[in-house]
Amino acid sequence: MENKLGKLLTTAFVTALVALAIARLGTLRENPLARHRSRIIMDTVVTIQIYESDSLQIERAVEAAFSEIERLEGMLSVWLPSSDISKINDDAGSSLVSVSPETWQVIARTQEISLLTDGAFEITVGAVMRLWDFQNQGAPIADQAALQRGLSFVDPHQVLLDSIRTKIGLRGRGAALDLGGAAKGYAVDKAVEVLRKKGVKTALVDAGGDIRLLGRKPLGETWKIGIRHPRAQGEIIEVLEVDSGAVATSGDYERYFDRDGVRYHHILNPKTGMPARGVVSVTILAKTALEADILSTAVFVLGPEKGMNLIEQLNKVEGIIYFEGPEKLRRLVSSGCPLSKKENELSTTPFSARRS
Ligand code: ADP
Ligand code: MG
Repeated sequence: MENKLGKLLTTAFVTALVALAIARLGTLRENPLARHRSRIIMDTVVTIQIYESDSLQIERAVEAAFSEIERLEGMLSVWLPSSDISKINDDAGSSLVSVSPETWQVIARTQEISLLTDGAFEITVGAVMRLWDFQNQGAPIADQAALQRGLSFVDPHQVLLDSIRTKIGLRGRGAALDLGGAAKGYAVDKAVEVLRKKGVKTALVDAGGDIRLLGRKPLGETWKIGIRHPRAQGEIIEVLEVDSGAVATSGDYERYFDRDGVRYHHILNPKTGMPARGVVSVTILAKTALEADILSTAVFVLGPEKGMNLIEQLNKVEGIIYFEGPEKLRRLVSSGCPLSKKENELSTTPFSARRS
């Protein structure tokens, strides 16, 4: 619940910022104030913000976009027993399962992007993810012996893809897929596609911090996207100015419990099965929300230096990494990152990696 409230706050802040940008255009008669609709899907607050004037066609488009996200939750959720992912996990170690061509493609594409991350993003992390309960403040720390057993199944070679019959399987009985770090991004991309096909020209879709933008604002004004302060609830730490594409954030404040002063959060290091240490929040800008979602999780696991190296190596990808320094929060910002205000109280470490 606390988590949902937190997400609601994030959404409210993003919304407030976008609304602010729009308010400055108040003199344009053909550009009415943005309106937004929110719904809880995929265990998070999904907000769709639109700029078109009110009409039945637009209402229907927004409704169809929400339905699209619900459809994808039904297909990709690890929590719903009827999803393709649950079917694959149920039959781990025995047989390949027929899945929808779309599930097959999402998994294949996710695997492709994972390859860039040097094992930091790993959908077979499900084998250890299921040993944790990050929804519950009183949850125990996962048992080390169980984690070690689970880790032997965290391996991309566990995934068997039959492209001809669109079947997917897992080699070992203890293996499990978890698309939690990619499904929301994919769903946001698909929701935007639905809006566009139904005639919406300008919109923002936000699923708990995974954002995709549609169209350009009137007068070419940029979108202002606030990044939530990872340590001060309700505050914005930075504002990005973006004209298209997607922005996703992964943080250790999303789903976690604290034990003896240590935070156990939901982004796991696939090599240890333990929460990834060092970074507190990563924001990635990319062309699609799927890429941004995957890369924000991966960079979180890689840590500040390796993570920023990856961002700088990738074409059309930018990002900010916040991490804990000896005394205060520090950050690394990629060379082309579109910060809206250049100065703030944070210490910025300039990073000069070669861009290929
Ligand atoms: P959020 O879901 O809060 O936006 P992320 O996009 O970072 O955060 O995704 C975290 C989710 O991804 C976890 O809840 C889990 O389902 C999955 N996950 C955790 N660690 C990894 C990892 N190393 N690789 C791939 N998926 C992961
Ligand atoms: Mg992610």
